Amino acid sequence: MRGRNTCRQAARACGMLIGSALLLLLGGCGSSRNRVCSPEEAAHFSDARHMEKIVDYLASDALEGRNTGTEGGELAAAYLEGQLKQYQIVPYFATYRDTLSNVGELSFNIVGVIPGSDPELAGEFVVLGAHYDHIGRIAPIEGDSIANGANDNASGTATLLELARYFSGCRAPARSLLIAFFGAEERGLLGSAHMAARLKQQGFRLHAMLNFEMTGVPMADKDYQVYLTGYEKSNLAELANEYAGSNLVGLLPAAQEYNLFQRSDNYSFFNEFGVPAHTFSTFDFTNYNYYHKPGDEASRMDFGHMSAVLNQLIPVVQGVANAPPGNLKLN
Ligand SMILES: [Zn+2]
Repeated sequence: MRGRNTCRQAARACGMLIGSALLLLLGGCGSSRNRVCSPEEAAHFSDARHMEKIVDYLASDALEGRNTGTEGGELAAAYLEGQLKQYQIVPYFATYRDTLSNVGELSFNIVGVIPGSDPELAGEFVVLGAHYDHIGRIAPIEGDSIANGANDNASGTATLLELARYFSGCRAPARSLLIAFFGAEERGLLGSAHMAARLKQQGFRLHAMLNFEMTGVPMADKDYQVYLTGYEKSNLAELANEYAGSNLVGLLPAAQEYNLFQRSDNYSFFNEFGVPAHTFSTFDFTNYNYYHKPGDEASRMDFGHMSAVLNQLIPVVQGVANAPPGNLKLN
């Protein structure tokens, strides 16, 4: 299993060839990964500038709304691949690209892995996901036909990319983290459905799936900052607030009313594996008027909000990936 190919093993093999001194000089995958990152570091990890840079690119007109099978979709995929490479996160499959077998056009999930640090638990995975595709060009409004998909879902993609950057620079949690950017979500969760089925067939051991969708604009008048879809289906919300040390996650009644649990990529994993699989979001149907419209632009995102949420999600991911067996469970 790939998840057991730890950096240490790779470094050992590599060290035999070129000598450990040179390996240290080169940096390799080991050095920063063995550093234990402090909670204070997590609390100040990301900032508005980092978020803005990512969303600005993904939601730019140059990517033409990142529709599946288009040049813009390919540019987005290549960008994510490049970022994972830059963070020295290795591919989970043979390459970063998981080709979708259930979509007519050539399209991909982009998938990397951060091997867990506990020999007992590294064979279990927490999948962190966000879809990077959007709906491309649509009927123009005021002359603009590009649905940029800044909130949907360059915001969730940026959140996941920042989580990847954080965990690539610290000692990994006990369980392995699979970083999955899904394609073809807008076609009906096709990227995640393909991947969940593929992993299931390979005997993948899934502990939990945490998905990030539309996190670009804050909710008003709530005593929590993020809602969880399928809130009542597991004890994840309760654990998340314990790990975050605040009332970070809440229940949004409209999410239940519109059955959002089944409307994003978490559902593909719940379906295949029957384990806790949820989406974190801050879109509450009243705080953003540009859903699936050309006006869903980067300039309408609140990057300070995005980075504040991201920094509070870090201990949640850490906690879930380190949780003692049996702690996180379906209700
Ligand atoms: Zn959408």
